[in-house]
Amino acid sequence: MNAASFTKSFWHDEAKKLEFRTKHLINGEWVDSEDGTTFDTINPATGETIAKVASGKAADIDKAVKNARETFKSGVWSMLAPRERLAVIERFSALIEENAVEFALLDCLDMGKPVMDMINIDIPESVKNLKFFAETADKVHGSLTATDPSVVHYILRQPLGVVGLITPWNYPLMMAAWKLGPALITGNSVVLKPAEQAPLSCALLGDLFLKAGGPAGVLNVVQGLGEEAGKAIGLHPDVDKIGFTGSTEVGKLLMTYAGQSNMKRVTTECGGKTPQIVFADYDNLDKAVTSAVYGIYGNMGEMCNAGSRILVQRPIYDEFIKRFSELTASNMVVGDPLDPDTTIGPLVTVEQQERVLEYIEIGKKEGATLALGGGRGLNSGCYVEPTLFTDVTNSMRVAQEEIFGPVGTVIPFDTAEEALEIANDSLYGLAAAVWTNDLKTAHRFGRDLESGFVWVNTFDIGDMTSIWGGYKQSGNGRDTCIEALSQYTQTKSVWMDMA
Ligand code: NAD
Repeated sequence: MNAASFTKSFWHDEAKKLEFRTKHLINGEWVDSEDGTTFDTINPATGETIAKVASGKAADIDKAVKNARETFKSGVWSMLAPRERLAVIERFSALIEENAVEFALLDCLDMGKPVMDMINIDIPESVKNLKFFAETADKVHGSLTATDPSVVHYILRQPLGVVGLITPWNYPLMMAAWKLGPALITGNSVVLKPAEQAPLSCALLGDLFLKAGGPAGVLNVVQGLGEEAGKAIGLHPDVDKIGFTGSTEVGKLLMTYAGQSNMKRVTTECGGKTPQIVFADYDNLDKAVTSAVYGIYGNMGEMCNAGSRILVQRPIYDEFIKRFSELTASNMVVGDPLDPDTTIGPLVTVEQQERVLEYIEIGKKEGATLALGGGRGLNSGCYVEPTLFTDVTNSMRVAQEEIFGPVGTVIPFDTAEEALEIANDSLYGLAAAVWTNDLKTAHRFGRDLESGFVWVNTFDIGDMTSIWGGYKQSGNGRDTCIEALSQYTQTKSVWMDMA
């Protein structure tokens, strides 16, 4: 597919042809909610209702979990030869590629993501992730240990059973794909609950898993609101594990639900307030500026690792802000997410738009300088224009709280010690970046920044050999890496007396 040549009219024409999967997928069947209720999913660019989606409650979750458990026990997937599971997940990833246009449209319509971001980032990253985990099928295993000859001792690595996956709306397809890879390849059965703001692409995922030859009941998709369907998964006594990506607040709730029910395992990938630290000695200021602009305005700032705190050393402070403002003006295009030229679509919902606009008011009241933006950008739709606060101090709410919108804050600093202290003064610890030519500073910050990812002289780059996960209240999970497999398996000793 040569998507780059596609036009706005192509995407609009394709959007008109879409048919939506609005029911739950339970045991291979598309079913309504037990109580027949639905919720609306709304296009944030237009305010129109895209579809009415089945609204799952505890009864629907219970049905899905029971089916997932039966499927797990039957061995149809959990006991399948690893290379047969590998073949299914490879076909699944190939089908995602084949259906790229539909996936791109579903997430664009649901949450306002610019269509080229889907083509260039979300879809290839989802495919890459699933392929990587498919390849691990027969490469991660237990072991035979060195024991006294009168004993045979081996360690089995086994799937957990029924896994509940609860995912956010900011990368609806990609966050689900990241979790499905390790959860499925290790033999678990899954109940996936997508975010209610952007549920449609996960339903397509469920459909394609069946088409790839995945047995019914292995991947169940139950739609619904967080405090109903999500909570029911969290409290269910027969769910063995939750894989969660979302806010820190809900991550904490899920840990509580686990304690209130069956002590299920919970891994969390939560919020962030990523510092980008730019030293005056760094010799490619334009590269740092470009990364800062895309780092905060990419995906409309609705990124867990959005570079929302930009720490700039005082000698280059004014020049940095000048170049940042110029690049934003020339490269950030607020508009229709189905237009390939758009880089900033609407925020996901009216509530999110209002929340972000409220933070802009808070920043002004706290005394930060509004250097860029601050308004809605467009008169209709849930837009907020790229916004920048300068002269920010780290104690301000706009520097401490996750705004989750296109709002950057610039904080000046003098010394490396001061920069490190500011960067680490956050309840979050997902990611950080440092820009310097000094090797010692680079290593020191790599070691001492309290975050799960540190980039040096680059930003938001990685592959399947790197890990994705947080320090502190950014969560305890590890996605997109071999380590993720241990989160979906458990180990067992088998000790055999041979005397
Ligand atoms: P959210 O926490 O509101 O919702 C995430 C999911 O949890 C949704 O499916 C929602 O329905 C469900 N949920 C909500 N309340 C629930 C409850 N009481 N019980 C069970 N489930 C419940 O988050 P969001 O607004 O969808 O996503 C944005 C957040 O996700 C941001 O904080 C962002 O930083 C974070 N995020 C983190 C990563 C990461 O890898 N660390 C990646 C993407 C997003």
